[in-house]
Amino acid sequence: MKKETMSFATGLICRECSTTYEIAARYSCDECFGPLEVAYDLEAAKGKVTHESIAAGPGSMWRYRDLLPEVGENPIDLGAGWTPLRRAHRLGAILGVKELWLKDDTRNPTGSFKDRVVSVALSAARELGFTTAACASTGNLATSVAAHAASIGWPSVTIIPSDLEKSKIAMTAIFGGTVLGVEGNYDDVNRLCVELVSEHPDWAFANVNLRPFYAEGSKTLAFEIAEQLGWKLPDQVVVPVASGSQFTKVSKGFNELITLGLVEGDSPVMFGSQATGCSPIATAHTKGDEIFTPQRPNTIARSLAIGNPADGIYVLDKLRQQGGDCGSVSDPEILECIELLARSEGIFAETAGGVTIASLRQMIERGTIDRNKSIVAVISGHGLKTLDVIVDSATVSATIRPTLESAQDALTLQEMAAAQ
Ligand SMILES: *Cc1c(COP(=O)(O)O)cnc(C)c1O
Ligand SMILES: [Zn+2]
Repeated sequence: MKKETMSFATGLICRECSTTYEIAARYSCDECFGPLEVAYDLEAAKGKVTHESIAAGPGSMWRYRDLLPEVGENPIDLGAGWTPLRRAHRLGAILGVKELWLKDDTRNPTGSFKDRVVSVALSAARELGFTTAACASTGNLATSVAAHAASIGWPSVTIIPSDLEKSKIAMTAIFGGTVLGVEGNYDDVNRLCVELVSEHPDWAFANVNLRPFYAEGSKTLAFEIAEQLGWKLPDQVVVPVASGSQFTKVSKGFNELITLGLVEGDSPVMFGSQATGCSPIATAHTKGDEIFTPQRPNTIARSLAIGNPADGIYVLDKLRQQGGDCGSVSDPEILECIELLARSEGIFAETAGGVTIASLRQMIERGTIDRNKSIVAVISGHGLKTLDVIVDSATVSATIRPTLESAQDALTLQEMAAAQ
């Protein structure tokens, strides 16, 4: 018999041809090589997963465990999720919109939304009998995998481009696993990891052989946004796009809530955000293409620098279906919007957050985002992760001697500068 706190996941299903499989560490379809995702018996969950049953759960993303893959009694939980959803009055006024909310995912245990996906992937991996954690990463995933693995005493092997931000490398290495820096970009790293999966079938690569489980973690962003709005759906949601997994699964999360009758109304229109230096989705969407051309990334937004996004066609599909849009913003705009967000709302985001805010502004200006309807923007990583890009410009206002006179002189100069 099914215990009350167990998952309603039933197996895996091919996103292309709908062939079904038992739960296992497989990620592509034997019939058509399409990607697999976790399937649920939402009919059975109706009336069992309720506002009350969810509210009775823990103050973490695991309050939604019924709607996530099976993870056993105790998921690997550093406290991911259940991050604040804040009304952004000041930034909303600057951007000229009526109702702006920020989902502050900088507040996760290792400082990025990746803790959600890793908590699910490694918990599922443990259930499936794995004992080593691994991943291909643009930085944040490696940090989260290394931390979650350390917390249960597992070895980890994280593989990243060797020229990533120093802060991200340090934040990963500190957890003691093996960190391999590859002389190449993320797409090279990913290719290498696909080969490594065949050589090491006993390693749980969070975003390769465990990808169907990993991806499910992103749904909790949608669940939380709806619950935190009082079980209401926002009209528009803006998320950053790297592989496109977060975008597709946030959308899936909203649809599951509608199917379960936990919210009413239409699924929010989804909007993507990319850096121009790595914008295969934005470029294809603007041209009206159904497929994208892979790019060689060149941007300070390293966490989003995936030139050949695995879920790219699904993102393009959704954008077309819903009349959504995808921003494409330059590196100077990214830096400007990191500062704008910090100064208007007191939130310090990494470059991906700058991409989201700059894209939000761009899409408001060109009218694809409706100013008069509600907007939620996901801020997916903490600014301490990408200090490198701001340390030279964000500095002391003045260096002074430890005397009252020196302080007063400096303050007068500051006032004069501000008045100009
Ligand atoms: C990984 C990541 C994303 C989104 O990644 P997807 O591959 O599109 O799911 C967004 N923001 C940050 C900070 C990330 O690290
Ligand atoms: Zn298939």
